[in-house]
Amino acid sequence: MIDRGTWTAALGRLQLELSNGHFAAWLQQSTFVEGGISSLVVGLPNAFARETVDRSFRPIVKEVVDRIADRDVDVTFVIHAEDVSNSPSRTDVSEPPPSVGHAPAASTARRSAPLQPRYTFDNFVAGEGTSLAYAAAKRACESPGGSYNPLFIYGSVGLGKTHLLKAVGHEINQRVPSCAVRFVTSEDFTHELVTAIRAGSTSAFRSRYRSIDVLLMDDVQFIAGRESTQQEVFHTFDTLYSAGKQIVLTSDRSPQTIRPLSDRLTTRFACGLVADIQPPDFETRLAILRCKALAVGADVPLPVIEFLASSVTDNVRDLEGALTRVIFFAQCNKLQLSVDVAQQALHRTGYRAAPRALTLRSITNAVCEHFSLTTEEIAGRSRASRLTRPRHIAMYLMREDTNHSLPAIGAELGGRDHTTILYGVRKISRQLSGDPTLQLAIESIRALNSLTKPYTG
Ligand code: ADP
Ligand code: MG
Repeated sequence: MIDRGTWTAALGRLQLELSNGHFAAWLQQSTFVEGGISSLVVGLPNAFARETVDRSFRPIVKEVVDRIADRDVDVTFVIHAEDVSNSPSRTDVSEPPPSVGHAPAASTARRSAPLQPRYTFDNFVAGEGTSLAYAAAKRACESPGGSYNPLFIYGSVGLGKTHLLKAVGHEINQRVPSCAVRFVTSEDFTHELVTAIRAGSTSAFRSRYRSIDVLLMDDVQFIAGRESTQQEVFHTFDTLYSAGKQIVLTSDRSPQTIRPLSDRLTTRFACGLVADIQPPDFETRLAILRCKALAVGADVPLPVIEFLASSVTDNVRDLEGALTRVIFFAQCNKLQLSVDVAQQALHRTGYRAAPRALTLRSITNAVCEHFSLTTEEIAGRSRASRLTRPRHIAMYLMREDTNHSLPAIGAELGGRDHTTILYGVRKISRQLSGDPTLQLAIESIRALNSLTKPYTG
């Protein structure tokens, strides 16, 4: 029987498969409406969402549901507005999701095309700096809730923390498809909590979090100084931990240096295995670049790979950005890729590689630079089309590439309302798949953003 629990598990899985922006824009608000032996009806808040999900996400939703149910499921999307507080929760499950192996149509589910997720152990290149975190994450998947519980991974930005965290989710789902895995950033957790408090639905919020099997919480450093969030994290942690559920946390700093944080949380975060990750060494950077070039199907000569690996040293995200920029530069100018061309791509325009965190401001600057606009123009009120498109792209990138909330993004873009931001994010998400020019613009801005201008004065 396909039930609420199946859909909850599917949502957890989809959150790992899709980008944060796509998931938040299209599936977060979905609800379980009805299930049968091999049918599932999912509700979406309006006609537009229903059409979009049906058109763009049906294959992946079906793939995930088929796997969890281990049979060929007929998935239907309908318009069905439901209060957020009633969204699916494992506590409502009348019976557990079907386990692997009993279903009559199991072979059909297995025959469907495999998922091609981005963040898996397979496409993570484990080097010296990440070997402990990598091994511990794998062990946590082999025996969830075992000795590496909680697993706390910390390290500076762009070193693969989120990648490893999502890889854990994939791997566990792969092993036990019915396992309810929940990936959440501590910021989103806070927002959900605040919304639940306002709506008077904290008990639904609690049961949602306390009835899962694996909690993956990204960037926990953001709960520093937030008392009610800390309290909620503490109780969620204790409930899951004492029930033997696996918890994996990431942060940009160690438990002891997250401040202010209540002592009881510091102790709990550190009571399992704490693994730090360090920037990759030269050999690992080479391996990562080869892996990324292969993933985008680009034939990048070894000398170019070596040049990039020696130019960008501290941050894998920047390394990826530099590679993308070089590939695009060569393609746009119809040049054969060589060290000379790579050098031009990185230096001729006055840029050099530099590690830095992605901030809202850096995205604003990169978008302005790409479209030759001023920050006043992009944050201003004018609705001229030469401004609205870049503005929407900025909203999309800020939502996709940072953990900032919609109101924070609104504030960065001239004090806009969060619904305006959501509109822009959705608009770009919708257009992206069918618009190569837009894809190119977004990738070039991302590449631009991973490189900073040298000091000139
Ligand atoms: P963090 O969460 O630590 O800021 P991410 O996990 O978002 O970093 O990683 C940034 C980018 O670098 C992602 O695209 C990720 O896939 C990639 N990446 C980081 N480390 C590795 C690695 N060791 N192998 C392959 N890709 C990596
Ligand atoms: Mg991260």
